[in-house]
Amino acid sequence: MNQLEIQDLHATIGENEILRGLSLTVPKGEVHAIMGPNGSGKSTLAKIIAGHPDYTVTSGAVLMDGENILELEPDARARKGIFLAFQYPSEIPGVTIANFLRAAVQARMPEGEELEAVEYYQRLYEKMDMLEMPRTFTSRSVNEGFSGGEKKRNEILQMAMLEPTYAVLDETDSGLDIDALKIVANGVNALRGPKLGVLLITHYQRLLDYIVPDHVHVMVQGRIVRSGDKNLALELEEKGYDWVRDQIGEPAGV
Ligand code: ADP
Ligand code: MG
Repeated sequence: MNQLEIQDLHATIGENEILRGLSLTVPKGEVHAIMGPNGSGKSTLAKIIAGHPDYTVTSGAVLMDGENILELEPDARARKGIFLAFQYPSEIPGVTIANFLRAAVQARMPEGEELEAVEYYQRLYEKMDMLEMPRTFTSRSVNEGFSGGEKKRNEILQMAMLEPTYAVLDETDSGLDIDALKIVANGVNALRGPKLGVLLITHYQRLLDYIVPDHVHVMVQGRIVRSGDKNLALELEEKGYDWVRDQIGEPAGV
């Protein structure tokens, strides 16, 4: 029951079916990596879990500790403990990270309960120390002029403060230089533990050198075609995605 369970999920955008019977279970306490070629539907999956309105789920379920969360608004999912890292976070000029995080934490508290400033800063600094972040970081405006690494740092700090039960990290891309990669890895490794399940989406095997996953899944054309341990990522790196495509009879080189 203590798991995020995706059951035979089918989803469309417009006319196109993007997820085509995707099943996957992430137990609390584990880190599961999803790898797959561009366009296989990895980001679509992340956004559907978070409740993005552009996608239509045509069948299947997403169960969080046994409850189907597809019925819930994005905000309700977040309050239940689902966290999706923003891939392209917005700039919020004039709002400091400290104030932004405070509002985010406050928003997830039960109605009528007030977040005490002293308590808040104590927790903020505790998390920052754990993540080895300089204190000056929180007085900057959210994402304004941030480097890729600083955006990641903000994202990880947000995750640390919100203490989600299940975190979905979509690390697609380009923006991830080696520094950003290490920030994400150090953050995830520091937050790893029995109370957190992580779904780590990545196109590149390299991230998994730093975050050693408990399980690796390969996604091709909207479904999981292979699952294994961390060695699957290495095998994939060595043989390329055509190797899995060949095995499942999909055309190579797409
Ligand atoms: P991945 O993250 O694995 O690269 P995506 O989930 O981003 O894959 O995309 C999967 C497929 O869905 C692609 O063919 C993409 O073109 C399509 N797609 C994703 N988002 C949209 C959208 N907003 N409108 C139309 N097509 C989309
Ligand atoms: Mg993507």
